[in-house]
Amino acid sequence: MPWDRPDRKEPDVWIANCFFTINLSFMQKILQQYFDEFSTMSEKAHNAVLEIAGREGIEMNSIIVATSFCFDELNHQPTKMNLPAPQGTFIMGGLAGYPFVGEIGLTAFSDHIPDGGAALIIFGPHIGFSRSGEIGKIKRVGQHRHTNTCGALMMVQEHLLSTSIHHIDPNDYSEFQPEFLALRLLPNAEEIRNADVPILKTTHFVYSEIEKEILALIQHHPSLLSKFPIYILGGIIINTDENMPNYFSQKTFRKVSGI
Ligand SMILES: [Zn+2]
Repeated sequence: MPWDRPDRKEPDVWIANCFFTINLSFMQKILQQYFDEFSTMSEKAHNAVLEIAGREGIEMNSIIVATSFCFDELNHQPTKMNLPAPQGTFIMGGLAGYPFVGEIGLTAFSDHIPDGGAALIIFGPHIGFSRSGEIGKIKRVGQHRHTNTCGALMMVQEHLLSTSIHHIDPNDYSEFQPEFLALRLLPNAEEIRNADVPILKTTHFVYSEIEKEILALIQHHPSLLSKFPIYILGGIIINTDENMPNYFSQKTFRKVSGI
């Protein structure tokens, strides 16, 4: 009797899986309108590690992963990210994913690379896309409303587009990261103001700032460059509603060290 109690869970699971698959393909159709290419964060990261292992002739578990993502829990949730990092990830990112750990952070990271191994730095800002296609908003687990994503970057953007004076007050530590980003984005203020979707434009500009800083940090670290193969994987994390996966629209994947 297929509908007797012991077996009733199976059709329920089957229906839930069907809804999940329909939601995924619907989500992908929405994202195709805004991103030339994307796949799940997990797939992008695993493919990158697999390729590094093949190119360098090393085991996958000899590759340590650092991330420079925004502090939002969505970007660190194991099932949404599913990064190939059994030993954990080294976290470089602060507000919006900018690598605020700086040179000291990178020096510490360089000391953690497995012997004979390699390092992969995955970085980028994030933006939410709800199931209904709303940009910069998602529905989080346990909430009935939609929240801003990246909420912190939206506040930076609001400040950037306001008429308030931009300066870093050395006595106000709590304002340092948002003010710093607002100053970095200031040359792009008009373009952001006139964009069809300002937060999407801001996210792309922040990406460029993050990539520039990641490369500068690596280039200014000669011992890291001369000892280990260093790879970067940069792009935009796309957060989606509730239990759906994070996607990643890749902008770069390359080796940056000399060895
Ligand atoms: Zn954020």
